[in-house]
Amino acid sequence: MHDLHIHLGGAVPSSVLWEILCDNGLRTQYVDFTSFHDSLTARPNEVKSLDDFLGRYFQVTEEIQSSPSAASVSAYQVIAKAHRRAQVSAVELRFNPHKRVRHGLHTMDAIILAVMQGLERASLHYGVATGIILSLGRDLSLESNWQIIDTAIKWRSRGSLNGANGVVGIDMAGPESRSLEMSKPWMSEVSAMMGKARDAGLKITYHVGESEGTGPEGMLKVIEAIHPDRIGHGIELRNATGKTKERLIALLREESTCLELCPTVNLVTRVIPDYQAIAKFVRELAYHKIPYCINTDNPYLIHTNLKQEYEIVGHELGADADTLLELGKQHAVNHRFLSN
Ligand SMILES: [Zn+2]
Repeated sequence: MHDLHIHLGGAVPSSVLWEILCDNGLRTQYVDFTSFHDSLTARPNEVKSLDDFLGRYFQVTEEIQSSPSAASVSAYQVIAKAHRRAQVSAVELRFNPHKRVRHGLHTMDAIILAVMQGLERASLHYGVATGIILSLGRDLSLESNWQIIDTAIKWRSRGSLNGANGVVGIDMAGPESRSLEMSKPWMSEVSAMMGKARDAGLKITYHVGESEGTGPEGMLKVIEAIHPDRIGHGIELRNATGKTKERLIALLREESTCLELCPTVNLVTRVIPDYQAIAKFVRELAYHKIPYCINTDNPYLIHTNLKQEYEIVGHELGADADTLLELGKQHAVNHRFLSN
């Protein structure tokens, strides 16, 4: 199984983060491990929305991961845990290097190199294919996002070494509520960034349609302007109607844009009411011949793993489970950014 949508900020066990925190002597509000672990557990009845989810947990995990040694250990543990818990065979790990430089104390180069070294060790130890997707941030300035693009190009993959690739792709992430995708000047600049990355051989994925903040209209804007290889979530296609829905379905199928589904996080952020909604969506995608794959997003914040995500969806799919899950696994292989 491939996990193509997993964030470094939400995929490291709290025990590992606690050790880093203590070893580095970081001053925080946490007095013991229990309160720390509790504060890093996302519960559906506590999280109000996607924006709330991102603000509540990621600032803490990104701060702890903000040094080369912390970033390296974190990356290694993501792969080790994913493989041991769910027999994952390939991981494309995404993170925002700009948010890990501790207010300019470290360089993005040092952070990316450290993550690469962590992944190289994990690939060698566990036989898992690995690669890095660098996330831009809707909450960062355009200047900072351009810096991430230029750094990504410098570190782009030159192929696989013992299963470990370098930087294989670019992502856009961050709060959806500001509806930046509806702003022409912003989209034109982001489109230029993505174009430069693509010309340098990087693949593109884009968080959009994860909540009503961007919605189906935001998905349409992104596909028309950027033509991403994959879309993070895109679950809002469920709520599209009329011409927008027709156009979205046609474009996703024609461009073979793979939707990276992440069931449990959608439930935690209250984007879907239940798992049945995901199963229904999977059926709809298969019917329209739109590629999809299943991923974890933030396995440690939401206490899941890839095997469990597949099982949850399979349970809801009933008799169609084998066929539709196998199709998802095949799409993940066909749409992965990692070299073969
Ligand atoms: Zn995500």
